[in-house]
Amino acid sequence: MRVFTLLAMGLWLGNAPLMAQPTSAGAPDPQAVEDLVAASRVLADLGVVDGFGHVSVRHDKDPNRFLMSRSMAPALVKADDVLEFDLDGVAVDAKGQAVFLERFIHSEIYKARPDVKAVVHSHSPSVIPFGVSKTRLQPIYHMSSFMGVDVPVFEIRDVEGPGSDLLVRNRKLGAALAKVLEDKTVALMRGHGSVTVGTSLPQVVFRAYYAEMNARLQSEAIKLGEVTYLTPEEAAAAAKTNDALVMRPWEVWKRKAMKPE
Ligand code: MN
Repeated sequence: MRVFTLLAMGLWLGNAPLMAQPTSAGAPDPQAVEDLVAASRVLADLGVVDGFGHVSVRHDKDPNRFLMSRSMAPALVKADDVLEFDLDGVAVDAKGQAVFLERFIHSEIYKARPDVKAVVHSHSPSVIPFGVSKTRLQPIYHMSSFMGVDVPVFEIRDVEGPGSDLLVRNRKLGAALAKVLEDKTVALMRGHGSVTVGTSLPQVVFRAYYAEMNARLQSEAIKLGEVTYLTPEEAAAAAKTNDALVMRPWEVWKRKAMKPE
């Protein structure tokens, strides 16, 4: 009986901190929520996400929190669906709703990369061949110059062995992915998809779209024969130019995506 009581006490005490919910950083900037809703819909409109995939933004009031929708198709996200998470991927208040299994992609990247303010994870189809073959994804035109000339590939077998379901379903896998991403803007996930990071929602949407476009064009170019890729210097220079221009496509994408049905 005493052993049982001690065990029960231990379980209760041991679990108490785990069960404690993170506190809210307060109401986020309504503009950030609106842009997160827009980003979800834009990515769906552009074919970067479909029924799967997600986008998040770091909380404007607390760098240890981020915003992301509940688990749902990105095209249908509304402001009411946006939830707040801490950097362990725990929802402040999920309101009894399901959360994305792969939220650890976001939480661990925010933890490892203070410069990152927005993250997109997708299964956009054209990048998949570059995660499973020896051909590296490389910028073939100025729009994708932000990728640099060394896009890393996350191999989940290095962490989980040969039997995983390929999903980044816990903190350990999220941290391993963040390590492979290192200081880059894009990482491919072998047999799964990719992750793209940026300093704003308009920029991360731009990057997720043009990474997909580059993959499509690179596959086409390879069929024609030898390909001339951007040099590292060209990539750096063009990326700098484009960073000042991300609002131009964003405004038209957002307007179309937010049109009342
Ligand atoms: Mn996924």
